[in-house]
Amino acid sequence: MQELKARILAEGQVIGCNEVLKVDSFLNHQIDPQFIMRMGKELAGRFQAAGVTKVLTVEASGIAVAMAVALHLGVPVVFAKKKHAVTQQGGLYSAEIYSFTRRETVHITVESRYLDARDVVLVVDDFLAHGEALHGLTELIKQAGAKLAGAGIVIEKRFQHGGDQLRADGVTIEALAAIEKMEPGHIVFAE
Ligand code: 5GP
Repeated sequence: MQELKARILAEGQVIGCNEVLKVDSFLNHQIDPQFIMRMGKELAGRFQAAGVTKVLTVEASGIAVAMAVALHLGVPVVFAKKKHAVTQQGGLYSAEIYSFTRRETVHITVESRYLDARDVVLVVDDFLAHGEALHGLTELIKQAGAKLAGAGIVIEKRFQHGGDQLRADGVTIEALAAIEKMEPGHIVFAE
């Protein structure tokens, strides 16, 4: 998506030994709602024919774009929680993911009433790096007996290979911008 690439080049900062892209001005801290809606529309269009019944993400940064995608597909969005809340009752699906930006392992959960075997689930997230979040979310879908429609990602850092295994397994992963390599002042996108 050309507009996203242009904003990454204009506003993105490469940090953390060239491993982390900071795009806090529109995606991860301050949110540009109209831009998020355009990105949601674009991702939704790529999965229009997949029969999606739910969009699944993980809190917090995935929620805005997941909501934009879900709105365009006309389905609910479910977000996995990272901390157990007293409001969570009944059966839970759960998985462990290592958080790349927080450098800690977190336990993610979804109440079983929100996903079941009739669902066709599209996973949406802001970034795909090493694939921890994506694999954790697909694990929740497996526990629910639901079908994985694919994954819609805003920014994929290809050089961290988080999508390799799932793509090899035949899963469709769509990214609005895919980065081949990056260093401060120099970001190369995949075709
Ligand atoms: P993964 O689980 O694929 O290793 O990393 C994906 C998750 O880590 C995303 O949900 C995102 O929140 C966070 N993340 C990974 N890489 C980056 C990055 O370069 N920049 C930002 N802002 N978040 C990232």
